Amino acid sequence: MMKTKTMVASLFRRTFRCNPVAAIAINSQTNLPRESLQHFSSKSLTTGRLQFSGRVFCSESGGERSSGCWNCGEKSAFLFCDSCRSIQPVDDSVDYFQIFGLEKKYEIDPRSLEGKYKDWQKKLHPDLVHNKSQKERDYAAEQSAKVTEACRTLTKRLSRAMYIMKLNGINVNEEETITDPTLLMEIMELREGIAEAEDSKALNQIRSQVQEKLKQWSDSFVEAFESQRFYEAVKCIQRMTYYERACEEIVKKL
Ligand SMILES: [Zn+2]
Repeated sequence: MMKTKTMVASLFRRTFRCNPVAAIAINSQTNLPRESLQHFSSKSLTTGRLQFSGRVFCSESGGERSSGCWNCGEKSAFLFCDSCRSIQPVDDSVDYFQIFGLEKKYEIDPRSLEGKYKDWQKKLHPDLVHNKSQKERDYAAEQSAKVTEACRTLTKRLSRAMYIMKLNGINVNEEETITDPTLLMEIMELREGIAEAEDSKALNQIRSQVQEKLKQWSDSFVEAFESQRFYEAVKCIQRMTYYERACEEIVKKL
């Protein structure tokens, strides 16, 4: 048991110490023009797929996902069957928030993820089922990878923002070229500042400024997202992308 604990802890550290933005599973390069976002927004409202109440929205695939454990038929099996201890196949309708027992809302406490992540890996890690059938070993590999990706995605503000937009049907192109001259200037100055910083004290100072900016734009994202101003929300994400990368650059130099 002790060994499992240590293994999971080191897996957690390995996975999350370095969390490149590039790992976000957003593939679409679609640039959404203002019109299509408005279209999207009104479409969602008319179909009633999204229900905004305060800071929460719900998806239609809420409750009726599990058809029971593949091995013993236990109805409450979710990722793992507590009754017969077998790992369940990945269910694509299960989103990352559900894995962590969270409401589908942007503002979460990332610290609350770690405990749950470790609990899942103690049940789902492929090393724990090496003597079971190939089928279940495959389930373990897939479930464990999904839980890791879920934790990685929800941990950071930027990837969480992109994910919650994706759940709303909007794929954000984080690579979109920056055209705002004020922002361009700011980026250049920040890059210079990082390049010229002489010691870790100077770097840490820049880092806390950048993190403050990241927090401000994250707050703006929440506002825009919750009032369904998706065009603006996308702009906030692009800002956050840039500050997140600056942070990574600083970490590399530290
Ligand atoms: Zn079962």
